Amino acid sequence: MLDLLHTTKTHDEARQGEAVELAPTGKADGRKLYIESYGCQMNFSDSEIVASILIDQGFETTKDYKEADVVFINTCSIRENAEQRVRNRLKEFEAAKAKNPGLVVGVLGCMAERLKSKFLEEEKLVDVVVGPDAYRDLPNLINKVEDGNKAVNVLLSREETYADISPIRLNSNGVSAFISIMRGCDNMCSFCVVPFTRGRERSRDAVSIVKEAQDLFNAGYREVTLLGQNVDSYKYTPKVEEGQEPEATINFANLLELVAQVSPELRIRFSTSHPKDITDEVLYTMAKYENICKYIHLPVQSGNSRVLELMNRTYDREWYMERVDAIRRIMPDCAISTDVITGFCTETEEEHAETLSMMDYVKYDFAYMFAYSERPGTLAAKRYEDDIPEDVKKRRLTEVVNKQQIHSLERISQYVGKVHKVLIEGFSKRSDQDYCGRNDQNTMVVFPVDPRYKVGDYVNVLGESCTSATLIGKIVD
Ligand code: SF4
Repeated sequence: MLDLLHTTKTHDEARQGEAVELAPTGKADGRKLYIESYGCQMNFSDSEIVASILIDQGFETTKDYKEADVVFINTCSIRENAEQRVRNRLKEFEAAKAKNPGLVVGVLGCMAERLKSKFLEEEKLVDVVVGPDAYRDLPNLINKVEDGNKAVNVLLSREETYADISPIRLNSNGVSAFISIMRGCDNMCSFCVVPFTRGRERSRDAVSIVKEAQDLFNAGYREVTLLGQNVDSYKYTPKVEEGQEPEATINFANLLELVAQVSPELRIRFSTSHPKDITDEVLYTMAKYENICKYIHLPVQSGNSRVLELMNRTYDREWYMERVDAIRRIMPDCAISTDVITGFCTETEEEHAETLSMMDYVKYDFAYMFAYSERPGTLAAKRYEDDIPEDVKKRRLTEVVNKQQIHSLERISQYVGKVHKVLIEGFSKRSDQDYCGRNDQNTMVVFPVDPRYKVGDYVNVLGESCTSATLIGKIVD
């Protein structure tokens, strides 16, 4: 196994459409970049790569798109309304473009990859369309537009991981940061666009991941979240010189251990797991390290095996429940969250009821819940009719949301009366008299500010009361 820990060098996200402010590092040439991100953590992490590439080209950043020379929207394509939100947002830039005809407007991310050059036809305002694997080409594409052309690069790659690019931490609280460990996805869930918009799965070089974690720790960060569409299928085989003994392949459990060994003061989280691939080795590694947080995001999507087969999730109801049993057996205090889709093609009321009973079986801490939204180009769109009426989809979604609300309150109530190790991430949105941070189980905790402690410190908080989303407490020594 490679000694990954002792080879460091210095270096020194509210979710919807948040702008950024960055310190320029490259030879500032006065051009201003404005970038906003939509969708998943992977997209927010990619925007940090984009910022790094352009700052190295001399760009500075601005939080005000009205003073920008280049405006980028990093788009999401997971559901129809995510794309509609981007189209509406683009309209808001028309006035800025009218005032500054030289303004470069670009779309990045999954919607850009899905629509490709069609985006230019559909949205006249857009000058440049760039897919998730083509961000290194941004400086060149911007120059093309500044020369009066439109520009597109939506080539997907089997190698690109941006491992050598140090992300610029956007909207960072200086405490927690994302580290992308792999790109793309080889699963072909029939409802999902990701394999088409992010390409084939490739794992990033483990050396660069551990270095990034070490650098973040040296820079004062105390939490990293390892990101991938399916982190459990992470595998990296170190390259060796000709004739040298091949090195052992590093799987996700190995990588978790290596990052956990950076420092016991560095908390480790990760997302997203896949029920088919999550191993007992990963669970035992989590149990072995206090600084690997006891929280797993394990999308179930449906509780019925026939629907799971139509979704091409490659596991059935019993397999998923056995994985949950394993989590609870190896880490009884581990929190589990999930993703649920209601109203998938041909789903019957009985099969919907199995999703509700799965929720009763697991009692998730929280869940992302959506009605099925057919995505063009996916297997489901090609093979199955989207036959569940919208009102039925919505009624089933309401039933799932109501059940989750009850379970979230039930789960969080268990934390009342107990002491939790909390990493102070900042001030509560409600009052600057309160700190906020999350416990090991990823539950948000709010407690009165204590001048002995600052953002980035770990404190012990006694849970005193709760809502279905927040634990309220006080610092206890
Ligand atoms: S695992 Fe399935 S749902 Fe998740 S990104 Fe891959 S194809 Fe999409």
